[in-house]
Amino acid sequence: MYEHLLSEDALKLRDEVRDLVAWVPRQMILDMDAEKIRFPREFLAEAGKRNLLGVRYPKAWGGRGLDWVSTCMVMEEVGVLGYIFACTFGVGAELVCDAILRHGSDDQKTRYVKPLLAGELFAAEGLTEPRGGSDFFGTTTTARRDGDDFVLDGQKRFIVGAEGADYFLVYARTNPDAEPHKGITAFLVDRGPGVEVHYLYGLMGSRGGGTGRVVFKNCRVPKENVLGEIDGGVRVFETMMIPERLGTAAMTIGPARAALEVAGGYTTRRRAFGKTINAFQGVSFQVAEASMLLDAASSLVYTTARAVDAGETPSRTRRYISETKKFVTEACQKVVHNAMQVMGGIGYTNVYPIERIHRDLRLASIWTGTNEVMSMIIAHEWYTEYAKARAAKAPWRDYEADAAEADADGEKIYE
Ligand SMILES: Cc1cc2nc3c(=O)[nH]c(=O)nc-3n(C[C@H](O)[C@H](O)[C@H](O)COP(=O)(O)OP(=O)(O)OC[C@H]3O[C@@H](n4cnc5c(N)ncnc54)[C@H](O)[C@@H]3O)c2cc1C
Repeated sequence: MYEHLLSEDALKLRDEVRDLVAWVPRQMILDMDAEKIRFPREFLAEAGKRNLLGVRYPKAWGGRGLDWVSTCMVMEEVGVLGYIFACTFGVGAELVCDAILRHGSDDQKTRYVKPLLAGELFAAEGLTEPRGGSDFFGTTTTARRDGDDFVLDGQKRFIVGAEGADYFLVYARTNPDAEPHKGITAFLVDRGPGVEVHYLYGLMGSRGGGTGRVVFKNCRVPKENVLGEIDGGVRVFETMMIPERLGTAAMTIGPARAALEVAGGYTTRRRAFGKTINAFQGVSFQVAEASMLLDAASSLVYTTARAVDAGETPSRTRRYISETKKFVTEACQKVVHNAMQVMGGIGYTNVYPIERIHRDLRLASIWTGTNEVMSMIIAHEWYTEYAKARAAKAPWRDYEADAAEADADGEKIYE
């Protein structure tokens, strides 16, 4: 669907990613789902060795100097292994490193980005707290200044990659008296004294990615590890929403595509009433709907990626990204639903991977901002743009008047 948007270099890169995907042993996927492997260290190290982490970053910091379109392609291809592979791939390389490269010092880039992209160091992002994830500004983790250090106390939960992380990007309240968006700071916190990780979730799916709770108790962080400005965490948070949500959308396509291909193989071989079942419209129309949704999802991901690459305005970017995250995650969940449905009972068993993909992808509409939060942002940005367009006297034509009774007396009542 998106091949025409990829450069020659990006197409070659796709072959490289597919080679990495082919390298992963089947047992690794099964062991992660069974939580015999709690964190895919070996996979991330191999991806780093092959220079596939963070391809859009400058070569000087370990990337390949490519763009968001290429990044989305990489995330999609990694996703066919299973959602959690792409989640762990994305959290360190695509989220945390993005924040450091945008807001960090050269020293931070050298210490934290270069080794992570080489697959030698691992990172996680701690935003959600037991108290809530949607309400970021309600953060209760605190960071108290003490000489040249900050002292962190608090908890973050549902943190992908916590189990294997060498460092964490964490938001904490540094100024309790300021308005919420003026009193939060982003920190790079090394795993060490004062940091406890509890791997404790009975997750429905997306297992084996080291998801855990991270507890900070009297945890000393030197001021050199403040990311961006003190009390300026909101600026880090805002830029991170691009990789969080666009990355989430792109990686969701991979497993859905895999599920549909498995269903394609089954429905062209399985027979009922003397025919292969794809001869029945009840089956093939569900496949048609899934194919359409996948293509629509890809179109949105790669068009939005182009918009980000082209430097679209922050407001439009927020709307496009939120629309993409919401639409793609819901469309892909429907794709997997259809894939299971056309396989009948066997699709519901672990003889085929669709039941795992179904469990894994349920996460997509919940994490990196729920889809309800996406709707809030979309509505806000749409109305803001609408008001601006009205003020600028656009559109050029008054569509509302193009109705026979447009001037009817007493009909246009608003209160
Ligand atoms: C497997 C997994 C991995 C995760 N990985 C990470 C990670 O690596 N790092 C990280 O920081 N977080 C992570 N999360 C957390 C995830 O991002 C949050 O769970 C999510 O943002 C929702 O927060 P919450 O669970 O606290 O729900 P709440 O914020 O309590 O929301 C509960 C419900 O209320 C709705 N709601 C809340 N406010 C509003 C509103 N204003 N309008 C309409 N509806 C509203 C929500 O949409 C939701 O349906 C992960 C979660 C899971 C399950």
